Amino acid sequence: MFDGRCALGIVEDHLQPMLLGADPVETGLIQERLFHAAIKLGPDGALAAALAALDIALWDLKGHLLGLPIHKLLGGAWRRTIPFYSSVGHTANLSTDETMARVRERLDRDGSRMIKLRISGDRTARDAHIEADIAKATALRELVGPSIKLAFDGNNGYSLGGAVRVGRALEALDYCWFEEPVQHYHEAMTGEVARRLDIPVAAGEQTYTLAGFARLIDAGVRILQPDIIKMGGFTGLQQVLALAHAHGVDVAQHQTQPAIGQTACLHVAAAQLHGWAPVELNDASGLQARVFSKIPLPENGVYELDDTPGLGLVLNEAALAPLKLPASAHAA
Ligand code: CA
Repeated sequence: MFDGRCALGIVEDHLQPMLLGADPVETGLIQERLFHAAIKLGPDGALAAALAALDIALWDLKGHLLGLPIHKLLGGAWRRTIPFYSSVGHTANLSTDETMARVRERLDRDGSRMIKLRISGDRTARDAHIEADIAKATALRELVGPSIKLAFDGNNGYSLGGAVRVGRALEALDYCWFEEPVQHYHEAMTGEVARRLDIPVAAGEQTYTLAGFARLIDAGVRILQPDIIKMGGFTGLQQVLALAHAHGVDVAQHQTQPAIGQTACLHVAAAQLHGWAPVELNDASGLQARVFSKIPLPENGVYELDDTPGLGLVLNEAALAPLKLPASAHAA
């Protein structure tokens, strides 16, 4: 089971008793108390995701209690128009032509001004199709021309030498970042790739702690990619932003959850000093539109944020009712 039900089980079995009687606006205290009380369940993975889910819910509640949108609670919005990029994945087993067809679909549908090509395949394979990957990166630049920004996600697929070879090709094609070139748990090697290339290396979507982001910076990574549904919610993302700011390092949030997480990351992006990176828009699932009657929607390459309290989402209770999981569903 690799979905959110693992985290749901941790909330239900371990965190819920500790939440009873807590003041819901004390998001920082709650986060640290629960993290340290349950640390032997983590600190990475499902525990971090459970704490992130709780934190996002509590910030939403805080916004509703105060009648303010979360971007104001985070210190204020530098921007309310948030650009996004189209994240095009699962291309490892597609031909170059099939991959470009998928890109064209997304460009037509999304209207975005940036594409990220994800070579997501078998994580146990390494350097399995470097020539084909470079061919796809080259075809993509030829397809979109110079005015569309491009990023490339190696999805942990290369050795050190393979990553440097791909990175040199991406530099020649004017890609703006090279994401997860090697296995994410090889933090020092990720940094070594970054130090050997001119193109910035981005990493951090599988990093769950602030200490983990400090290690990535030490290694040489200069674009951090925290994911709000994995790493501490708003409380955790604020910490990563402060750490990045202290080191002059960029943050380009990771986000592939097409529901609450997508909206949550918009508030962080709005309140981010020197935020230049578009937010990630994965393939749409339609889930968010089904369960909320009011949501920020991607349109013409951007999201627009307003002053609706909390996350700015309004639940469609009638649509949600049949989707409700039984209390013991996580154990299924
Ligand atoms: Ca990625």
